[in-house]
Amino acid sequence: MHGKVLKISVTLFLIHMSAIKFFSTNGHPERVDFRAALLMGQAPDKGLYMPEEIPQIPRSRIGQFSNMSYPQIAYEVIKPYLGDLVSDSDLRTMLQDAYNYDVPVERVYDEKYVLRLDRGPTCSFKDFAARAMGRLIQYFLALEGKSILILTATSGDTGSAVAHAFYGLDNVLVVVLFPEKEVTDRQRRQMTTLGKNIFPLAVQGKFDDCQALVKQAFVDVDLSVLNLSSANSINIGRLLPQAVYYFYAHSRAAPKGEEIVFSVPSGNFGDLMGGLLAMKMGLPVQKFVVATNENDEFPRFMDTGIYEPIRPSKNCISNAMNVGHPSNLARLFCLYGGKMDETGRVGQQPNMAAMRKDLYAVSITNEETRQTIKEAYVRHGVLLEPHGAVAWAGLMKYLKECGDTSPCVSLETADPAKFPEEIVRATGINPPLPAAMAQLDELEESFERLDGQYASLKEYLRRFL
Ligand SMILES: *Cc1c(COP(=O)(O)O)cnc(C)c1O
Repeated sequence: MHGKVLKISVTLFLIHMSAIKFFSTNGHPERVDFRAALLMGQAPDKGLYMPEEIPQIPRSRIGQFSNMSYPQIAYEVIKPYLGDLVSDSDLRTMLQDAYNYDVPVERVYDEKYVLRLDRGPTCSFKDFAARAMGRLIQYFLALEGKSILILTATSGDTGSAVAHAFYGLDNVLVVVLFPEKEVTDRQRRQMTTLGKNIFPLAVQGKFDDCQALVKQAFVDVDLSVLNLSSANSINIGRLLPQAVYYFYAHSRAAPKGEEIVFSVPSGNFGDLMGGLLAMKMGLPVQKFVVATNENDEFPRFMDTGIYEPIRPSKNCISNAMNVGHPSNLARLFCLYGGKMDETGRVGQQPNMAAMRKDLYAVSITNEETRQTIKEAYVRHGVLLEPHGAVAWAGLMKYLKECGDTSPCVSLETADPAKFPEEIVRATGINPPLPAAMAQLDELEESFERLDGQYASLKEYLRRFL
């Protein structure tokens, strides 16, 4: 008898059981764990990190979420991506600390709700991502005794949420680029009145220009000693926390486990990607309404199958959504079997039929946005700001066209007090300033100006070398 002995190396299967690996949407061969993806921000080939496998939460477990608090649900959703990189108790503590504010699910009529994501320290939904990401980055840096420079572009709200999340830390510097003419006074003040380790830069240009400058700095080898990291929605560390509130909203609006409709006001598509991840993890979703302002490159793509970025982007009143080429489309394409590089070039068309089944894309004009702020207030006594109004208007269009009877949740992503002029104009109401913003108009500002040239940004960053 000379049968072959098959030697199986069992250990091989046991080593990397836990942490999920992340790959680049541009196809770079290297796979990294969450920690590396978080600290790098962007993959070396300018692609965005995506999880190689999406962990599943069983329906029976999701059913129990209606009895859990926000930080508890956050733990359930985020933990599977981290494996053993963070201990259970450390992760629970971080999330408890990050989500120490209300997340109201406000009934408007029937089973139609507004999810208020505006109760964090900077009064925009970006606090949800920034606060969890900030704590995770701090945690890993402390373990390694390292420091980094967070370089981020903002269309209005990211900058302040990120600045607040990292404010006062020794091992983190934050440089925020914002389009000089496209943020409101209060949005700017939330970044420029902090000081310490926060360095705001007013750029002569648009958000897309700021984003392009940031991307260029990331691949500049001369700057690599700075340990640049991005806190944009291109960072996977911001995306995962944005899956959590979809689970939370579902547990409150549909405690029996029904499929629901979400309407998402979309600019750079990070918020939507959080929702899609939630759905792929097992959350029962009937449809995502993808509501954009007049920057309608995505609704047009859904109609025609042809992707054309809008350059320059249009200046709409929902200013955090003035994005002519959303970075997260690369992830969206990837999720549906397609491929898009960072410039918006389509390498492989996604599965359009599958996309159209999950997503209803709609563009809302400025006039419709203002009309919606007025109507929501007059009809329902609900105060919306321009971004939330785009989502609500999108939901109303979807319901009119498709007559869906599922519970619906429309995301309100900022506090109306951040946009007082528009609210007064539409409703006659001067929205009350939340406590977090009470001092803002009196504090002293400090920031520098930058022309739109990459050379100028590089020169500026050299001071931190
Ligand atoms: C950033 C932002 C959005 C858009 O979110 P994306 O993830 O970029 O699509 C919507 N509303 C407000 C208030 C924002 O700050």
